[in-house]
Amino acid sequence: MHRDRLKKHGRQYVQLLAAVLYNCNITGFATGKIYKGKLKGLCAPGLNCYSCPGAVASCPLGSLQSGLLMSKYKIPYYVLGTLLLFGLLFGRLICGFLCPFGLLQDLLDKLPFPKIKKSRITRILSYLKYLILIVFVIVIPLVHMVPGFCKYICPAGTLEGGIPLTAADGKLRGLIGFLFGWKVFILCLILLLCMFCYRAFCRFLCPLGALYSFFNPVSFFGIRVDENKCTHCDACVKNCKMDIKKVCDRECIHCGECMAHCPTAAISYQPGGRFSDRP
Ligand code: SF4
Ligand code: SF4
Repeated sequence: MHRDRLKKHGRQYVQLLAAVLYNCNITGFATGKIYKGKLKGLCAPGLNCYSCPGAVASCPLGSLQSGLLMSKYKIPYYVLGTLLLFGLLFGRLICGFLCPFGLLQDLLDKLPFPKIKKSRITRILSYLKYLILIVFVIVIPLVHMVPGFCKYICPAGTLEGGIPLTAADGKLRGLIGFLFGWKVFILCLILLLCMFCYRAFCRFLCPLGALYSFFNPVSFFGIRVDENKCTHCDACVKNCKMDIKKVCDRECIHCGECMAHCPTAAISYQPGGRFSDRP
């Protein structure tokens, strides 16, 4: 029974553990002070705002934008190397297991609202995150010297950083302006959308997922399909809530939900897992 529960909810436990570990500076939530110790020099793999009062590590997207802002003077080798390492090791397994904002989206999906099914339109929308990656994470920081994604879009930053910090600090509350209102509006819109559409932020908007998706075909850890067992029934693709065309393509978050639907038990987690060779 214990084992069954672990098997059923194992991924949620890992997601929860990651969220707690990323944000274990508990006193920060009471004082409204951001932790600035040595660990903050390291990046966590998932989307977790640097400015969250509980955060003990940095956000890889925030660090990448800061690195690009300074790239005239110094190439951000550390951030690029860290992203490369995370990508090569895990690919989008990070979205499925190690992202606190992914966990939040999974929980919102459990609310009993009618769900928008995946379709050709959602598949097209899944390309939007690449545009956001190019424009807001790369071009705007390089050209306008502004962390575009953090400043104008990031819902994790508003939820984990902006709102708790302004709640704890009266001086900050006095500085609230249009931009804060805009970010709260974006956050609410995304949270609402996620109640009706599975992982809407992850699928359509997240530039970190876009970045890690390039590594899915080569990441060391991940899910793979045993070609000798696969009958090409496509039950995996039909039952997957992400906009995949096949298991382990750029949209696969390695959540493992498809394993239960495979009639031949052809899908499994394997170190060194590779892109399925299925046509
Ligand atoms: S559900 Fe299993 S057998 Fe069917 S296509 Fe997917 S991997 Fe192959
Ligand atoms: S293909 Fe399987 S592992 Fe990948 S996202 Fe879909 S259900 Fe999860």
